[in-house]
Amino acid sequence: MVSGMSRHQPMDRRLLLSMLSIGAAQALIGCANNHPAASPSPAPSTVGSTPTALGNTPVQLAAPRPAPPALPPVPPPHPGPPTVVSRASSRTRQIALTIDDGYDAQTVAGYVEFAQRSKIAITFSPNGAYSAIWNRHADVLRPLVETGQVQIGNHTWTHKDLLDHRTDAEIHADVERNEQWIQSTFGITSRPWFRPPYGSHNHHVDALVGELGYTKILLWNGSFGDSTLLTPEQLLALATRYLQPGTVMLGHANHNTILGLFAQVEQLIAQRQLEPVTLDTMFGTSRAVG
Ligand SMILES: [Zn+2]
Repeated sequence: MVSGMSRHQPMDRRLLLSMLSIGAAQALIGCANNHPAASPSPAPSTVGSTPTALGNTPVQLAAPRPAPPALPPVPPPHPGPPTVVSRASSRTRQIALTIDDGYDAQTVAGYVEFAQRSKIAITFSPNGAYSAIWNRHADVLRPLVETGQVQIGNHTWTHKDLLDHRTDAEIHADVERNEQWIQSTFGITSRPWFRPPYGSHNHHVDALVGELGYTKILLWNGSFGDSTLLTPEQLLALATRYLQPGTVMLGHANHNTILGLFAQVEQLIAQRQLEPVTLDTMFGTSRAVG
């Protein structure tokens, strides 16, 4: 396990300390650099490989599950001009918790348990690069997806920066591969919601994913700041600051600091009379339409 853990240490100690000293300035920065997913991912042509291969286990080879009755059929893509979304568009008590990545197994498990226990609406945008971690929770998440408590967004399979010398074909493949995994694992499409890794995008990238039906480019206007490792005090300060009406709140299932703070997050939501919702509820999209 020790060697297994080392691949989840995304930064050296000096960098980590310097980032910690930045504190709240990290709040509105997206996923940390040196993301484990930025390392070369398994080639896509691994269908039929052994189910023990990490990170590329073909979902269709996992134990077959009965088709969920409550989910609509996956709709076709609706390509179109993209719009960038970072907050609720009207006055509301709603708040959208959006949790990305998922490279720490304990943190992913903690978020899934939190969703199941609290009934709080969450939109997860996992990377298929971490499918080995997410797949083990599919049986718990699918019923929550069926009731509409949990939604799944697209954050690419690899989590590579889309502005870092990527060809159009690579970007399309990265997004589509994640979509295929989301469909087969969670039973729904992630369209039209796309969150670019690191929040890194431009008009060209937006148009590219718009061609695939991702017409909602999801950014955020509040953050737990936990794309890097924070102390509980730092994370709670950011939660206190940003859990406000209308916020699209960014968090990451990458570091376990949040696991000791779920009760405080729930308390803030209750005290402030916030209504946690999915992106579908906040913005009027639906899994039946995509
Ligand atoms: Zn990310």
